[in-house]
Amino acid sequence: MGLTRREFLKICGGTVAGLSLSQSLIPEIVGAFEKAVHGKPPVLWIQGAGCTGCSVSLLNTVHPNIAEVLIKIIDLRYHPTIMAAAGETAIEALEETAREAKGKYVLVVEGSIPTAAGGRYCVVGEKGGKEITMLEWTTHLGKDAAAVLAFGNCAAFGGIPAAHPNPTGAKGVMEIFKGRGIRTPVINVPGCPSHPDWMVGTIAHILLYGLPELDELNRPSVFFGGILHEHCPYRGFFDEEVFSKTFPQKEGCRYQLGCKGPEVSCDAWKRKWNTGVNWCVADAICIGCTEPGFWDKFAPIYQPLE
Ligand code: SF4
Ligand code: SF4
Repeated sequence: MGLTRREFLKICGGTVAGLSLSQSLIPEIVGAFEKAVHGKPPVLWIQGAGCTGCSVSLLNTVHPNIAEVLIKIIDLRYHPTIMAAAGETAIEALEETAREAKGKYVLVVEGSIPTAAGGRYCVVGEKGGKEITMLEWTTHLGKDAAAVLAFGNCAAFGGIPAAHPNPTGAKGVMEIFKGRGIRTPVINVPGCPSHPDWMVGTIAHILLYGLPELDELNRPSVFFGGILHEHCPYRGFFDEEVFSKTFPQKEGCRYQLGCKGPEVSCDAWKRKWNTGVNWCVADAICIGCTEPGFWDKFAPIYQPLE
């Protein structure tokens, strides 16, 4: 294959020469695909109640760029935002893939799944004059998938659409599956949005080596395996009780400004965003977007944790 799982995980974990995946995914992984992935499993990407931010985040992947991801790494058959087809033609392509690759395709879910009123708060298409709901697709496509990737906090845990008072009854994929006895493996890749490295790295791991090691919330341990507060570059300030009082103040821990880092598993402290340009806590705070219960659990966001 050219790239062992151990080497791959080192790259994903950002432990190769201090680079994160976005900075270092580079030719090794793309090359590994060209050698190892024969007949790539098709990927169906459906969107429910969300802002499409995770798709936009994926489009920002730099190494590999999105063209490499779509052409060399995955065989994306359906994506409402970027596919050229529309209407019933697009829906037929999705259904054909689901039929022909039953048990083999990977289903990506972005956005949460409204369950109130029979799911009618989120209609994702129409066939033969009949509305198709996100709830219907999640269960119908989910039960026949090889695995479901829940991208973003909304798909993983319900996210902002599930915040109080949640009039649409929005839920994440695992909750929907539990209630219906669907046993397809679900991998949660939360975030608001999810980081491109977390999404591309998880897809890459599945295609090259199978399901990745998961934490107790079904998140890939390589990305979500450590508490942010324990690794944060501002931790020294916390221990010395030096706290920032305002956002422009660079010196000091952001705890008193509302940072949720002590209750969050996330590696943004080393991975950063936008190919390593900056990250949440550098100029603001962590708002806990990788955790269940986000948004309600951490609101109001500028209030310190108790
Ligand atoms: S509270 Fe936030 S800013 Fe302070 S050390 Fe923890 S994670 Fe870093
Ligand atoms: S540091 Fe906090 S706000 Fe930033 S991505 Fe991680 S969990 Fe989300």
